[in-house]
Amino acid sequence: MALDARQWLDKIRALPLTSPVRIMNVCGGHERSISMAGLRSALPDMIDLIPGPGCPVCVCPEEDIYQAIQIGLNEPDSIVVAFGDMLRVPVNVSSKSVRSLEQAKAAGADIRPIASPSEAVRIAKSEPGKTVVFFVAGFETTCAPVAGMLAEGIPDNLLLLMSGRLTWPAVEMLLDYETPSFDALIAPGHVSTVMGPEEWQFVVDRHGFPAAIAGFTPDSLLAAIYSVLRQKLDGRIFLDNCYEQVVKPHGNPTARRLVESTLTIVDAPWRGIGIIPASGLELSADYAQHNARLRFPVHAENARKNAGAMPPGCDCARVVLGRIKPVDCKLFGASCTPRSPVGPCMVSDEGACRIWWSSGIRT
Ligand code: SF4
Repeated sequence: MALDARQWLDKIRALPLTSPVRIMNVCGGHERSISMAGLRSALPDMIDLIPGPGCPVCVCPEEDIYQAIQIGLNEPDSIVVAFGDMLRVPVNVSSKSVRSLEQAKAAGADIRPIASPSEAVRIAKSEPGKTVVFFVAGFETTCAPVAGMLAEGIPDNLLLLMSGRLTWPAVEMLLDYETPSFDALIAPGHVSTVMGPEEWQFVVDRHGFPAAIAGFTPDSLLAAIYSVLRQKLDGRIFLDNCYEQVVKPHGNPTARRLVESTLTIVDAPWRGIGIIPASGLELSADYAQHNARLRFPVHAENARKNAGAMPPGCDCARVVLGRIKPVDCKLFGASCTPRSPVGPCMVSDEGACRIWWSSGIRT
């Protein structure tokens, strides 16, 4: 019989922990569930839950945002569409007055928020005289439906500015550090649904860290937390699938095939972090005619020259890497709030700073 959250909490509290354990999650949805449910304060003090690189908007490099802004401002008859969060993310280009897609819209560019790839197709079909640029910033779960859209065929006037990212290379990079910022991993359920649980086996096999895949409810998260703690205590490390009802071996073969046939893996920059090898998803050569970077090389070049990393004082990179908590940034709640965000982690619904602020976490 499945246990409820209260029962999992009781089991965790009964564990004979003798030293602190840092457990990282790499999913904005996990972080939101943990924060909203108040799991941190409910768990024993020795358990530290650390938000990691789970927000695609937060790691989207400034040069890509800058490029989308420049296309919107400078390309006649262009429409830039992006998922809503992306519109408010600020770039740190001091010489320019327009520092976000939202500001570009206010300056007259045709920038539109969308909620799904099919909306981009619909807009392109309804505006045949315009060039529609779909700015795609997202992890595997966002890229899979984009791949499906490409495989179905898209209008000639629809271009993509891809800023797709794979989650696991960032985790691998964190584990490769001499002093990793965590001791165990809660792996993202939705990414595993698409790519398969096997994607996280390296955490166990190559690094010897406990890992468990979790869903988004408190009971599923607590089951995963219990699993990694139990693994540490028993010295028996394995990848536990605590979301078996949804995460199946090998994931979703159709989605994986679509991703593999339309997108290609590239070395990619992560905002404030730098280039992580083989961590990006870009359009494959077969779709070069839909690649906004190739269609507008001047903006790609300018973006590379002008874009920096983070706004002054913003510690998003260290938040994303799990090196500090959102409350450790001196701007948190001072000059940086959801109303007036300084960095991307306070903009996105999946950003740890915004989640902590919205959940009332202040210390
Ligand atoms: Fe960046 Fe604001 Fe978070 Fe500080 S509080 S890390 S400035 S988003």
